[in-house]
Amino acid sequence: MVGMLAAMPTAPAGSPRPDAMRPRQRDDACPGALRLHSADDGALARVRIPGGVLTARQALALGDAARRLGDGDLHLTSRGNVQLRGLDSGDGLELAELLDAAGLLPSRAHERVRNIVASPLSGLDGQGLVDVRLWLHALDAMLCESEAAIALSGRFLFAIDDGRGDVAALGADIALRAAGGECAWVSIGSETLTVATEDAPRAALLAAEAFVTASAAGEAGEASQGRAWRMGELPGGPEELAREVVRRLPTAARSAEAPRGTGVLGPAAAPGPAAPGPAPGVITGPGGRRSLSVLAPLGKLTGEQWDALTQHGGELRLTPWRGIVLPDVAAHGVPALEALEALEAVGLVTDPASPWVGAGACVGRPGCAKSLADVRTDAAAALDSEGAGTNPLPVYWSGCERRCGRPRGDHVDVVARTDGYRVTVVRDGYPRTTDAAASVAAARTTNVNG
Ligand code: SF4
Repeated sequence: MVGMLAAMPTAPAGSPRPDAMRPRQRDDACPGALRLHSADDGALARVRIPGGVLTARQALALGDAARRLGDGDLHLTSRGNVQLRGLDSGDGLELAELLDAAGLLPSRAHERVRNIVASPLSGLDGQGLVDVRLWLHALDAMLCESEAAIALSGRFLFAIDDGRGDVAALGADIALRAAGGECAWVSIGSETLTVATEDAPRAALLAAEAFVTASAAGEAGEASQGRAWRMGELPGGPEELAREVVRRLPTAARSAEAPRGTGVLGPAAAPGPAAPGPAPGVITGPGGRRSLSVLAPLGKLTGEQWDALTQHGGELRLTPWRGIVLPDVAAHGVPALEALEALEAVGLVTDPASPWVGAGACVGRPGCAKSLADVRTDAAAALDSEGAGTNPLPVYWSGCERRCGRPRGDHVDVVARTDGYRVTVVRDGYPRTTDAAASVAAARTTNVNG
């Protein structure tokens, strides 16, 4: 099977990566909770969940919204947000009221810019350098108070990493990362600063506000190519943003050194290996605290699965790997193994060796008019035919070349075409295409061993 993959030569040194970004000529049309997107299966709402953290009450409200207004399912995104599909275009007001009552819309003006991913196991497994929840709440609150931040695009991403390097590798525009002691790294595109730990959220906000200013200036300039939505699109690069943060924050300093594996977007940044998310199973932390990690098959949770996740009455953490962490389940009176079995019984992925680990797909047909195939059904059939393995490459199925939601980093890229699927191994940001109709299982196994 290995011979079925015919890898193309990598691109010449210095050539732009296929995902290199340019400023946009149009406004950002990213969907939100208040700005519904019209899809083939009805209206779609994207609810931002900073850090993926939901209280029990918020989780119940989202399940209620999906059931009453949508198709009953909850769809997890690659940023740990939730999409509700199959809404009526006139449901916006009722949805907003429902989310508002649950505290999921702290600022209507900022609802699309609260894009923050955070290390999902922070404070639970004893692995990170800090518990990032303080940073998460502080940055979210600062964003919601900033007039300038309203102008960020709905795609601009913050990452808050507890030092383990998981979410820092997800291609955020601005990443905070614990460095140990009283210090934190702040990555602004390809620029790196160090700041005092307590100033890290403020540094991220200052950098974001400087980005808004630079983006507006670039758009208004004579040689304007449009407005930058992401850091990598800023014509002048992020250097001036880093200088601005140093000017305004006494504890900030430029750093020639960068933390390994940060992978934020910038002119020279290459994705490298995909960041691993929490493996499914029971997670035992300091003091014997036990948390659970499960994955939603292809990111979709049925109403029954959501009910099973929320019935223990505690917090939920949605991960950028389309998983769910249930912190400290035993504290809610549920033995961890028993709870895990109950989640497995409703079809959630609980086995780290499952072929469904690392597998994703866009919505495809019939939800998206652009799709050339029912990618979810095809992906499920392919995954069901794979045996259990260990540590395969992530795989992502897309209904067209846009490849919405595809992972950053090395992965197997499966794209529908009019004549079938094209299977490509993406490594270091460059595709290596196979002409052979190799199966996805062969592609994943081949790259792991090869
Ligand atoms: S990748 Fe294409 S088919 Fe899939 S959701 Fe995006 S636009 Fe639709």
